[in-house]
Amino acid sequence: MPLLDIKNLTLEIPHEGKLIKALDKVSLTVREGEIRALVGESGSGKSIIVTVISGATPPNWRVTADRMTWNGEDLLNISAERRRTIMNREIAVVFQNPLTALDPSVKIGAQIKESIPNELVVGKYFWQRAARRKKTTISTLHKVGIKDHLGVMNSYPHEISTGIGQRIMLAMALVAQPKIIIADDPTRGMETKTKTQILKLLTKLNVTRSVAVLFVSHDLLAIASMANSMTVLYCGQTVESGKMKNLKKRPLHPYTKALIDSAPSFRSDLSHKTLLPALSGSIPALQNVPIGCRLGPRCPRAQRECVNVPSPRRIHEHTYSCHFPLHREKR
Ligand code: SF4
Repeated sequence: MPLLDIKNLTLEIPHEGKLIKALDKVSLTVREGEIRALVGESGSGKSIIVTVISGATPPNWRVTADRMTWNGEDLLNISAERRRTIMNREIAVVFQNPLTALDPSVKIGAQIKESIPNELVVGKYFWQRAARRKKTTISTLHKVGIKDHLGVMNSYPHEISTGIGQRIMLAMALVAQPKIIIADDPTRGMETKTKTQILKLLTKLNVTRSVAVLFVSHDLLAIASMANSMTVLYCGQTVESGKMKNLKKRPLHPYTKALIDSAPSFRSDLSHKTLLPALSGSIPALQNVPIGCRLGPRCPRAQRECVNVPSPRRIHEHTYSCHFPLHREKR
């Protein structure tokens, strides 16, 4: 049974008296111990999925799904209290901008200590429990690569860099010993060295503690080496999903191919200043999405039939939604 199982998730957001579909029948699964990449351009709806999973949607957003379960529990029909417990103990979310996710008026050390669930703090007396919290905070900061733990613990969020902030978010996620870490573009805007360290850290956690990871990113190059599987999203629709190695080697959907081709290449046969291949145009605004397949106006393979929404098709563990997939031309 998958840990996180989402089938046909639709999210409608009110806009100028109408409901617009920010997510349209999105499906996503994450199994125990798996690293799944959720990729797509900016504006494809990746972060909205994270918001829906964490239950932080405003009351006027309409969320419907055929299935949205966590470890077999229906996330759409559980009490707010149970949802909070799951989010505190089992699902950890590392948000995109760490410095806005932290409380600006509380020192970082206190915020990490507060994130440690009471049941993980042993000790009969309060000073024993306080010492335990401090010890766990320091060891977790070391684990995420922060050596100057005292300096960081005594700082306020505005006094640290984004790279350190991202590590702190990871530390706050780790102290609760979650079953899954949902990392929403945690390496955006980071320099390469810090980015590599964060990716290595997540991979290590996955290997040593079997923590599942849902890695949300637009940077396919960064996650291609660490993820086992990948789900590709375009304009709020799932376009392709499957094992990372199959999708990289033989993508069936034109959008997945375009994403892979647009990643920087280090091939020696490329001449100097070769332009990266990219799809023309840009992702449409949600108020003006095309009918049928949303990639239609940008797709080099589009034909008349594409005005109808393609149904998902499945070949073993590989799912795609396209009327004219690559490598599957009718003979
Ligand atoms: S359904 Fe048509 S428009 Fe959409 S990706 Fe496939 S070929 Fe392109």
